[in-house]
This record gives sequence, structure tokens and C-alpha cells, in this order.
Amino acid sequence: MRTNKELFEESKKYLCGGVNSPVRAIKPYPFFTERAKGAMLLDVEGKSYIDYCLCYGPMMLGHKNPEIIDSVKHQLEKGTLFGTPTENEIIFAKRLSQVIPNVEKIRCVSTGTEATMSAVRLARGITGRQKIVKFDGGFHGAHDTVLVKAGSGVVTTTIPGSKGIPEVSIKNTVSINFNDIEALSSVIEKRDVAGIIIEPIMANIGCILPEKGYLKEVKRIAKQNETLLIMDEVITGFRVSLGGAQEYFKVNGDIITMGKIIGGGFPLAAFGGKRKIMNEISPEGQVYNAGTFNGNPVSIAAGLKTLDILERKDTYSGIKKMTEKIMDGIYDMTSKLKIALYGAPGMFCLYFGVDEVKNYDDAKKSNTEMFKRFHKELMKRGVFLPPSQFECNFLSINHDEQVIDKTLDIMTSALNSIKR
Ligand SMILES: *Cc1c(COP(=O)(O)O)cnc(C)c1O
Repeated sequence: MRTNKELFEESKKYLCGGVNSPVRAIKPYPFFTERAKGAMLLDVEGKSYIDYCLCYGPMMLGHKNPEIIDSVKHQLEKGTLFGTPTENEIIFAKRLSQVIPNVEKIRCVSTGTEATMSAVRLARGITGRQKIVKFDGGFHGAHDTVLVKAGSGVVTTTIPGSKGIPEVSIKNTVSINFNDIEALSSVIEKRDVAGIIIEPIMANIGCILPEKGYLKEVKRIAKQNETLLIMDEVITGFRVSLGGAQEYFKVNGDIITMGKIIGGGFPLAAFGGKRKIMNEISPEGQVYNAGTFNGNPVSIAAGLKTLDILERKDTYSGIKKMTEKIMDGIYDMTSKLKIALYGAPGMFCLYFGVDEVKNYDDAKKSNTEMFKRFHKELMKRGVFLPPSQFECNFLSINHDEQVIDKTLDIMTSALNSIKR
């Protein structure tokens, strides 16, 4: 048996940074997962972890969900990729439109990155304008236009976005402060903004909630200036409620991007909106989007089963109850510490060393050293949080009372040891 450390040493020779996505390169070395089930990950050394990373979001129905595995097996018997339309794609699109009323038509893609890339192109195509407004700390995938003051793994890089992005690609991207209506009003005044892309809950810089009425105001300003509002629901969609953050906050976007949870652990994402907007996508319209794996039968099978499970009546009430339970527990154990704790159903984040986090700058003031120590102590005791102060923690339907109680005990002990 090879240890995590040995595997990482070898991995670094053949994979960039030893990983296939930067956030996975946990210091000093990551654990290599052997298998997973429910709320648990098991590594190659035989150590198990309660997982609050959940693959950075998708695994809300738990690892190796038996129903999803079954439906995928059933599809595998019929074939994996056809390059022709399938009936299941229609059923999937129709069911999505029933769940999210302003999504009348969709285009399936494989990743959230593709969804937001196409959404941005669509907004530009429809309006004939170039400018895109995003928010500091908002993360919308790894394509050029949106890698400006982005969250997630980009926060910890030394350069502001990425090398290799031509200036022209980001010349039309304006990044502004979240929860700051005046900042938005002032950039949008010239009526040259094609789209505003927003995470309704900023979940790639921890977990920052919109202030009361903020999203409604964003929507109003977008409408007033004939700018399209791109609601990036890749994290919040199917999480905070079946209809996502749009339903939770009662605010609708014009183009909605979805991903992560909807594929039940398989690569599946989509963007959608009212027919009038989506009719602009090729081949019907002239905004090009294409993909070999778009709407692939295996992911769609997983997606359909995911919707079945999400539509059951206890799915969201259970997640909500367990999120409250863990947040209450954390609140109690940290009452004497300077900590800001935020969450919504299925997601939460605690920031160390700050009282309040309303935007990117507040988040950056948090005590990341303290977070790192907490994270390390939790790992030792078998709880895996995403390895950065600027990622959000997630719950699955398998995070039940027992799992949460155990987590809270471990957190108490981890906190005691870092306070010393
Ligand atoms: C993860 C994420 C994306 C990118 O999705 P990928 O599937 O990783 O390409 C886009 N937007 C948000 C809000 C995300 O959290």
C-alpha cells in the first residue's frame, strides 16, 4: 500500500502540481481517495473523513447514491454517447422548466465553466454590447472573461487573475463590490453593459449573503438599463431550494446557469432562460454553442434521477434542519471567539477573526492562519472541510443527526486545541 505522501510525490511528476484542479493541492499533500459512500470519504491509507467539501458542491445526494448508481447502470446497458438527440434530454429540459419557471428552454453543457461562458456570449449577442459586470470574489469558472478578481482557487494566487489572458479579453470586464448598489448604479449608467453575472450567494469566497433587498435592486437596475442579469446558480441551484436562489430570494434572472448538483456526480451543466432569450442560441439563433458531450446520456440519466430525489418532500426540509443544527452548534462553541458565521440551506462558512463579512474585502480580512490550524486539527480527527477559508462548506442528505453530532464534537475538540 502506498501512502498519500508517496502518491503525491509521484503524482507531481506526471500531473501539473500533482492534481487536476488547483484547489485539490492541499498542503503539505492531499489525501488520495480510495472510495466514498454517503457523507464519508475513505483514503488510500484507510482513514475516513466526514466530507463537507462534497467535491466543492455537486454531491448533495451523497457519495455513491444507490438510486443514481442504478439509473446510470441502466443507461450504461443502452450505450454511453450517441451524438444524436435522445428522448431523455427532452424530459430533462421539460422537468427543469417545471422546477424553475423562468427557465423555459435550456442548452445542456458539461461544466459550469461552459455554462457561464455561453451565458456571457449570449448576453453580448443579444444586446450587441461588450461590457460584463461581475462582483469581486465571484467565481464563474475558469474562462478568460470572468477571471477578474475571482474567487475560489484564484483568491490565493499571487497574480490577480491568470497569466495568458489577453488584455482584450478582460478589457470589457468590470468587477465591483458585492452588496453595494451604488457601485453597480455607477458602472451601469452608460447603458453599455451587456450582462451582470452574479452569484446570488457568494460561495467561492466563503459564504456571503446578499443584504435584504439587494438582489431585487440589482434586478431593477439591470432591467432599467436593458442589461441582462445572469444568475449564476451553479452552486446555489437545487441547493438552497428546488428552484435555487431565485426561488429562495424571489428574484429572477434573465439567463440562469446551472451545474454541480444537477448531474448527481456526473458532468452536467446547463444554461437557460425564457424562450425569447434562448432562441438566440445556435442552430436556431446566431450565438454559437456546441459540445461533443453536451447532454450526454449518462449524465442526463443521473440528472433525471437527481430531480426525482430532489422533488421528494423531505429532501429540502431535512437539509435545512441539519444546516441549522450544525450552525447552531458552531455558534454555541464559538460564542467567545471573534468569528462570523453565515449559511443558507445546505451551505455554511465560518470566518475567523472578523465580526462581519459583506463583501470580498471583508472576507480577505479574515484570519486565514487560524483557519488553516482549525482545518488541520479537523483533518487529524476525520473531518474534511474544503481546504481554504474562501471555500464554502456543504451538506448532503447523508449528513444526518448522528453525523452532525459527531462533527460538532470533533469541531469542539479542534477549536480547543487551536485556542491553546
Ligand atoms: C464551480 C462554479 C462554476 C464553474 O463550474 P465548473 O463545473 O467547475 O466549470 C461556475 N460558477 C460558480 C458559481 C461555481 O461555483
